[in-house]
Amino acid sequence: MTWSKLGIFTAVGRIYGLRVALTDLRLANVASLIATHEAWADIRSGTAASLARWRRRSTQIVNPAFSWKTAFDFFLAATGTTYHTHLHAESRQRARPVRPFRTLYRKMAGATLQNWQEYLRSRVEAKGWNGELLVRGLQRLPRSVPQAHRWFLLKLHLNAPLTSARYAAARTVDEAEPCAFCQLPGGDKAAHLLQCPAVLAAYDAVAGMAALPPLADARGPLMMQVDLDGASVAGVVAIFHAVWDIRAMCRRGISYEGHAQLVELIWKSLLCPWLMRCSPTKCRQQRRAERVREPNPVPDTVMYRSDGASRGQGGSEDSVAGWGAAVWRAAPHGQGTGAPLAEARGFLGRNVSNNVAEYHGLLQCMRRAARADDRCVMFEVDSMLLAMQLARYRPWACRSENLLDLHRECVRLGERMAETGVAWSIRHVYREFNQVADSLANRAIDERGTNGYSQAW
Ligand SMILES: [Zn+2]
Repeated sequence: MTWSKLGIFTAVGRIYGLRVALTDLRLANVASLIATHEAWADIRSGTAASLARWRRRSTQIVNPAFSWKTAFDFFLAATGTTYHTHLHAESRQRARPVRPFRTLYRKMAGATLQNWQEYLRSRVEAKGWNGELLVRGLQRLPRSVPQAHRWFLLKLHLNAPLTSARYAAARTVDEAEPCAFCQLPGGDKAAHLLQCPAVLAAYDAVAGMAALPPLADARGPLMMQVDLDGASVAGVVAIFHAVWDIRAMCRRGISYEGHAQLVELIWKSLLCPWLMRCSPTKCRQQRRAERVREPNPVPDTVMYRSDGASRGQGGSEDSVAGWGAAVWRAAPHGQGTGAPLAEARGFLGRNVSNNVAEYHGLLQCMRRAARADDRCVMFEVDSMLLAMQLARYRPWACRSENLLDLHRECVRLGERMAETGVAWSIRHVYREFNQVADSLANRAIDERGTNGYSQAW
């Protein structure tokens, strides 16, 4: 996520009623730049003269805080008025003197809120729901809905719940784990949980006592697609948030028996959620350590592994990045161990993000694979993002501008390989099993600017 996109969190705060203490840095930079100019009268007269000569009025401004002129353009493009007009209008309305920074920031934040609503709508519509109804439904939610439930809704709407179905899509595990409630194989995904028969039966039992409407499928009310009053939707959200908590408990190894106990757990979670948090849990590293596993062996397949590395603050001027790639011969008993057949590494320079570096590594592998005449090829990367995007897993579709060209090139190479009859696939492996490519990428950074391809590459 680029830093400018962080703006969505300041906006979703308002759309979902979340208490998020965040400032949109991009807007704050523009506002403070303009406010500084406003603060001194002698600068102001000078800038007014040079602004009269300023001709470029572009709507595509990459870095609006580059100079006060780009800031001026950005304000105009975002809000439709110049900042002078807005400040004068504000000062005429109020008795007290206006504070330029706050006034300008609020105006821009209000104007960009609409863009983020558009964005949210497009994400929801990509999943086949009506975005208009969703935004309107969110406005109808009662103020008493707690913050945790609002976050839960946000996650559902933006495809964020991390279930084992995600790891299956990245081919880290063979298939998603069974549903924790009805044991349906591969049922551990957000979409199933909302229509799981065991969960809906428990819902009916709880809803009967709480005077909530019966449900055949919870996706309608949770995506705000059905015409329910705000209080009922809040009730449905509360119950499914509790169900989600119980699912997490089951993943941590706590089991329950039968329908009656599930209903009881949901009640308990609704009445005193803090009790549910007492179940033993593990820290992030521990949970990761449990998940890490060796990739399944794939016999008679040429194995490419690539990695990208970036040091320093991602995408900033003092960050440096490089990529590394290695290939192993097909072996009858599984994937490449021992010394690689060929390896390559390259330095990408400054101001390159880690994902771009990862893509460069993969691209080199795919180019070599397209040249070579191997019939069976596997690409392994330790970036979940890459594996998902190349596997065309919809929720992870490539939307980022700096990745689009690299992504297209990879897809093109993949299609060319498929046309010539090469069976290829890509999967995610844990970084513990990608040491060779990782050390190549780091060597490329250490050596700065010497690209190295071994003879067999
Ligand atoms: Zn189920």
